[in-house]
Amino acid sequence: MVKTNLVVGAGFSGATVARLLADAGESVTVIDKRDHIAGNCYDYRDENGIMIHKYGSHIFHTNNKKVWEFIRRFSDFNLYMHKVKGIIDGIETPIPFNLNTLHDVFPKSIADKLEKKLIDTYGYGKKVPILEFQKQDDEDLKNLAQFVYEKIFLQYTMKQWGYSPDQVDGAVTARVPVYISKDDRYFQDTYQGIPLNGYTELVRTMLDSPNIHVKLNQEYVSDYETQFDRIFYTGPIDEYLSFKYGPLPYRCVYFGFNTYDKEHVLSNAVINYPCNYDFTRVHEYKYYLDDKSEKTVIAKEYSEPFEAGKNERYYPIPKDENIKLYQKYLDEAGKRDNVFFLGRLGDYKYYDMDKAIQRAMDVVESLI
Ligand code: UDP
Repeated sequence: MVKTNLVVGAGFSGATVARLLADAGESVTVIDKRDHIAGNCYDYRDENGIMIHKYGSHIFHTNNKKVWEFIRRFSDFNLYMHKVKGIIDGIETPIPFNLNTLHDVFPKSIADKLEKKLIDTYGYGKKVPILEFQKQDDEDLKNLAQFVYEKIFLQYTMKQWGYSPDQVDGAVTARVPVYISKDDRYFQDTYQGIPLNGYTELVRTMLDSPNIHVKLNQEYVSDYETQFDRIFYTGPIDEYLSFKYGPLPYRCVYFGFNTYDKEHVLSNAVINYPCNYDFTRVHEYKYYLDDKSEKTVIAKEYSEPFEAGKNERYYPIPKDENIKLYQKYLDEAGKRDNVFFLGRLGDYKYYDMDKAIQRAMDVVESLI
């Protein structure tokens, strides 16, 4: 008998599971409560021909060759390498803070002295998370760490998470470490780029198999548990278990879009505003696929707590108490042996796209 599978959620996690099961000859139904596939990676071309990332910039980057080879079955990628700038003391300068940033924001004599100390202390090419960088004895470097903490991390993290950097898991700010280097790229991964026809088209191709049936605008209901051999649930685990132990907190971001009669507004795809305004960063989407238009679209990104019925879940909030609550839900869910949880919401993990795909591959590999 062909196994029947229900995949809840048509984002990268769900689409990867669906495709791998379909390739193995199994039958897969994919449901999503939204009216589109691709989850928060969803993108579309607007009336000016500009590819808009509806839920914020998504840049694919990975060191995992297996993930890269898998994803490239469904789309070619361009050679885009992401760079972010931030406004620090009114100066537009590279983020993460690196040796170029150091020279942009300090007078030459001070920057030269600090650069030497940084290289002597950590070695050229080293990445140092801010919370680690703050813990050293040298007075000059301590002052520099305090500068970077205050000017780049403190207010941005307060805006993004509603907590200071030391109140969330250190891995959050370690995503953007101080980089003892002149490499201005946001990611150093071997494989980077943007799918040439966008993420939605990539996911559509992933789901394009005679063994996969996609149903949009479809909420999960518990009756499904008896109708399929297996369920792969990429939605929030707390909702799946009817909030039995109380809701898990999530963070939401939302975007204020503006169209301008100009070819470009920003010098770069993303500009961070750690110290100014209520938004965290601004995106100018046409950079990703080098879209040609006399107009441009930018989006200001704001963050707020997730509230059921009001907005969407984007990020789990990596904090000890939340992970403990998640674990309680997982223990409860583990009593069902045909239901598997995955993805940012199902695993309550701050996955990048490649990690979500890797996790989905691992789940399927453990079963077939
Ligand atoms: N961060 C910051 N200032 C910046 C950039 C990042 O404080 O200019 C911190 C902030 O806490 C943020 C985290 O680093 O949430 C991770 O940043 P990343 O750009 O990876 O966030 P994502 O793109 O996943 O939202």
